[in-house]
Amino acid sequence: MRILIIEDDAAIADAIVAALTRAGHAVDRLSGGRQADAALQAHPYDLVVLDLGLPEMDGVELLKRLRARADAVPVLVATAREALDERVRALDLGADDYLVKPFALSEFEARVRALLRRRTTQGVPELKLGRLRLDLPRRRAHIDDAPLELTPREFGLLETLVARLDRVMSREQLIDALCTWDTSLTDNGLDIAVHRLRRKLEGSGVRVRTVRGLGYLLETEHAPAA
Ligand code: CA
Repeated sequence: MRILIIEDDAAIADAIVAALTRAGHAVDRLSGGRQADAALQAHPYDLVVLDLGLPEMDGVELLKRLRARADAVPVLVATAREALDERVRALDLGADDYLVKPFALSEFEARVRALLRRRTTQGVPELKLGRLRLDLPRRRAHIDDAPLELTPREFGLLETLVARLDRVMSREQLIDALCTWDTSLTDNGLDIAVHRLRRKLEGSGVRVRTVRGLGYLLETEHAPAA
């Protein structure tokens, strides 16, 4: 999943970026409200972690603008203990959850998993497609009971396609979903990831179909008539 961290405390940002990157997510970070407002309009994110006390434009204003654009991306707010009014305001404005600083990294990770699970699988911890079983929050995949070994990029590609099952995604949309500002993915790199994922999904009842001139989609194979 692609996640944006908006936090001006470098130590906190470092810790949560490291944790989310370790969990296999594509993570961008910003410390200023205005830049973040622009980034949210330019890129599709699956989750935003938002500090409320920010330079230039505070987190409450940022959230207000986000929801005014009808952007429904899940937002996890991080606030100081004394900022009760701000926290209530943020929830009223459409924040999905909040954490009070300082928080334990394990709790932060659990909240992120819960929000992503709600977004991708309507809260169901495990998704079943054909013989493929996917635990998106923990980033594990199985075909029946056999673990499916996927690289972080292959897993990212699979979860991006799963979130838009049966709908075509263009190459540009896929590349945007899989990259951060610090990592790039060439057309060639995307082709390789698609090729490898396709081979690994053989026999799973799920396949990546190429739609010529448009992009790719994930679909379940229909069982042949007996
Ligand atoms: Ca701050």
